[in-house]
Amino acid sequence: MHYYIWTLGCQMNTADSQLLASELEKHGHHATENWEDADIWVINTCVVRQSAEDKAYGRLYQLHALKQRDPSRIIGLMGCLVGVRDPLRLRQKLPFVDVFMPPSDPRPLLTFLADRGAEAEALAADAVARAHRDALQDEDDIASGDLVLPVHERNSLVSAHVPVVYGCSFACTYCIIPFRRGVERSRPVGEIVAHVRSLARQGVREITLLGQIVDRYGKDIPDGPDLSDLLHIVHDVAEEEGVARIRFLTSHPNWMTDRLLDTVAALPRVMPHIEVPNQAGDDEVLARMKRGYTAEDYRRLIARIRERIPGVAIHTDIIVGFPGETEAQFQRTYDLLAELRLDKAHIAKYSPRPGTVSARRMIDDVPPEEKERRRKALDDLQSQIVAEINARSLGATVPVLFEDRHRDKWRGRTPQNKLVFVESDRDLRGRVEDVQITWTGPWSMQGRLLSDVLATASGDTITLAVTR
Ligand code: SAH
Repeated sequence: MHYYIWTLGCQMNTADSQLLASELEKHGHHATENWEDADIWVINTCVVRQSAEDKAYGRLYQLHALKQRDPSRIIGLMGCLVGVRDPLRLRQKLPFVDVFMPPSDPRPLLTFLADRGAEAEALAADAVARAHRDALQDEDDIASGDLVLPVHERNSLVSAHVPVVYGCSFACTYCIIPFRRGVERSRPVGEIVAHVRSLARQGVREITLLGQIVDRYGKDIPDGPDLSDLLHIVHDVAEEEGVARIRFLTSHPNWMTDRLLDTVAALPRVMPHIEVPNQAGDDEVLARMKRGYTAEDYRRLIARIRERIPGVAIHTDIIVGFPGETEAQFQRTYDLLAELRLDKAHIAKYSPRPGTVSARRMIDDVPPEEKERRRKALDDLQSQIVAEINARSLGATVPVLFEDRHRDKWRGRTPQNKLVFVESDRDLRGRVEDVQITWTGPWSMQGRLLSDVLATASGDTITLAVTR
């Protein structure tokens, strides 16, 4: 059968969809680029804000209408809309959905298809049914960590995500993720290593380790490794297998130890790039968010990261319009961002989420227009800051890992994760090349391959010699 997956939300969902695609293909199904042609439709959902949830429902109701015309289509719902508990209420609300899959768990769909396969086998003993039955016997594969990339990504995907901590046991008052992704569970080292190794052998050149609070890796394993140990282990694998770059996200300020920062600085394949959300610059708001640090703590953390990791790029997340956020409190967030001059800020408008403490006990009292005004003010500030930071790279030479072509240019990233576009007729996919930066803006840069610059320069010399 043919499948099509819509992936909404975060990098963890991207990784989850990749695992699902891998499993489906292992069981004899194929991807299609045209979703209308697919027999199996899967929506991998996000509910972090109401807007994300609305997107999932919009797609779902569209598919429902189509399924009414053709009931043989299979609809699978995956991810944070489903959650880790039995989605009984969702089943009742959405009876046309055939399969519900919790985050990171493709097995319900595989079982569903296997059951169908068994039925078909009884009727026709066809090859697909036999493939399903055989595949059921190697169910343990998922747990081993080995991942066979889906065909369209095999030997072409450059950058991949590897979950290392599932779930979250922290309790930020605004956040629904712990309710939907379950308690924090670190993945065993062996599984992570197998995952990284298998990706590398299929051409992947950059690995990003994922966790809701990735710097808590290993805290739930007695005497287990921490993130710093894990980075050393993954770095060894990267050296053996030719993985050029390692990143990790998202960090929480309270677990960013000096040891971790020094590890990032010491390991050449771990990139100088830290994602550590601030959320707010006002202490009272931070306390009501239950983030566990003050603005001054965050300020000191940024200084410490910069001191220990030369040339580091720091990304943050901010929420504007949290319940009760006054103009003065918002201004403190604005001032902190203006002071810290970070490399990127994801700015979100507060959205009350069912079941969270802030939705149950606090009033969403900042009007939508005011949230939008605050969001835009921070966005404007931040793009000005990033434009200035990026302008400093003009004329510099930076190593860029190229990922793919975008229109007529190659697209890649610097160690600081900044986007760079370059014109070249060569196949640059998966290569790290020195690039001279010729133009910079807030969202991307353009440059020329240093090898081209040098070739032109030596060409000039020859011309000069001839004319003389
Ligand atoms: N676990 C990570 C990421 C959580 S979700 C962390 O600790 O940051 C990604 C971002 O979405 C968060 O950093 C936060 O800025 C935003 N977010 C989470 N819940 C939200 C809500 N209810 N309303 C608006 N933004 C939210």
